[in-house]
Amino acid sequence: MSALDSDFKTIAALSTPPGYGGIGVIRLSGKDSLSILQSLLVEPPSKGFDPNHSVLLPLRNPETGLIIDQALVTWFRAPQSFTGEDVVEISCHGSPIVLSEVLRLLQSAGASLAEPGEFSLRAFLNGRLDLAQAEAIRDLIHSQTTYQAQLAARQLDGELSRQLKPLKERLVNLIVHFESAVEFVEDDLDPVDVEKFAQTLDEITSDLTRLSGSYRLGRVVEAGIKLALIGRPNVGKSSLFNALLGRDRAIVTTIPGTTRDTLRERFSVNGIPAELVDTAGLRDADDPVEKIGVERTRSAAADADIIIGVVDLTDEANDLDLELFRAHPPQLMALNKNDLRQMRSEVELQELSGIAPVIRISATSGSGLDELVLRIYDVITSGISPAVEGAIITNARHFAAIETARESLITAKNALKEGFTEEVALSQLHRALSALGVITGETLIADILNQIFSTFCIGK
Ligand code: GDP
Repeated sequence: MSALDSDFKTIAALSTPPGYGGIGVIRLSGKDSLSILQSLLVEPPSKGFDPNHSVLLPLRNPETGLIIDQALVTWFRAPQSFTGEDVVEISCHGSPIVLSEVLRLLQSAGASLAEPGEFSLRAFLNGRLDLAQAEAIRDLIHSQTTYQAQLAARQLDGELSRQLKPLKERLVNLIVHFESAVEFVEDDLDPVDVEKFAQTLDEITSDLTRLSGSYRLGRVVEAGIKLALIGRPNVGKSSLFNALLGRDRAIVTTIPGTTRDTLRERFSVNGIPAELVDTAGLRDADDPVEKIGVERTRSAAADADIIIGVVDLTDEANDLDLELFRAHPPQLMALNKNDLRQMRSEVELQELSGIAPVIRISATSGSGLDELVLRIYDVITSGISPAVEGAIITNARHFAAIETARESLITAKNALKEGFTEEVALSQLHRALSALGVITGETLIADILNQIFSTFCIGK
């Protein structure tokens, strides 16, 4: 698909996931949507189509004259639709056979199959969404935690665009000033003005710095983290793994070496997506299968963003734990089986906490687990600016654009202070403005559009 030369033919796609379901929705967009739909109707609704109202109608295969489904059909009249064009949504029964047949018949009647993201692209090109909002739809659909979904929903609501708007307006005002200064060269900027402009540039730069600083959190929220549970056999790693997931995924036994491979499951640390990894216990194993498991544990530890060391408070093997955690230092240590009689002395516990902060838990009773999750969250977010009020940048493209704008503004300010001509500052201001425009799509670059919309799913 080429983003800018879409010839706006009428497109069709299945907008719900393929497979069996209660319903499946096929969407048409383009000026011929209604007439293409009509070719599948036995007869149009008695009162004609009313925009935004659904009608239950039989669909007929025009080739055979046979009825193929009863569908709920909704027409959205341009420009009051998602894409800004005439849109028809056909809610069929969720049979893959019916849906592919309807889609085929719509194609025979003149519709073209939509490319991934083509509906959203049209919505953007028709001014129904800005680019950051269109990307937010994709992120919302792909979100894996409620926090990711919230951030995407805020962006879809236009939050980032709203935060950028006043900054862009201030930039435009500055540009207008400088343009006139360049126009009337004889009136050099007086030093008072230079100070004033430099201050405005500082203010805009600091707003951008705040926004780009939020990307450290945004990136973690988007990409997630790997969290490995490491410890000797039988300390309760699998029990903790299951307790954190809230279901019995790993097999728990009293026999050391039961977990022979690494298990990986999706897990949410207060909204930050994590891959939780249960590892085979680290010990000298003779069994060849167990040996491989132990090797995999070592690589899981090396690969993890955060290691949670698990210790069994009911055994006396402090030295073995110390040896293990010195070799694979954890960020947090869970002192497990806190519900049973404890065998570690105060001195031994201090030795452990010298390696990483400790927290007492019981994987079987659940005590201390909420706090453990909070502490993991703190480890993940430490050093990251606290959740910024307003927009959080989660997208590498947006981050890069903001950084470009920021650098340009700093260069502009330095040029101004060092007494370069206004043209030098002006070109940097234009560069900053166009970088910010790239985020919302005011600065159109066809390659970027193609790249973005090709990451959407079909039917969106
Ligand atoms: P792993 O080898 O480290 O994965 O250990 P498991 O999770 O398989 O647990 C070994 C044994 O310790 C099992 O019998 C568990 O039921 C038991 N266990 C694990 N955590 C606790 C706990 O917090 N309290 C008690 N009482 N038993 C536990």
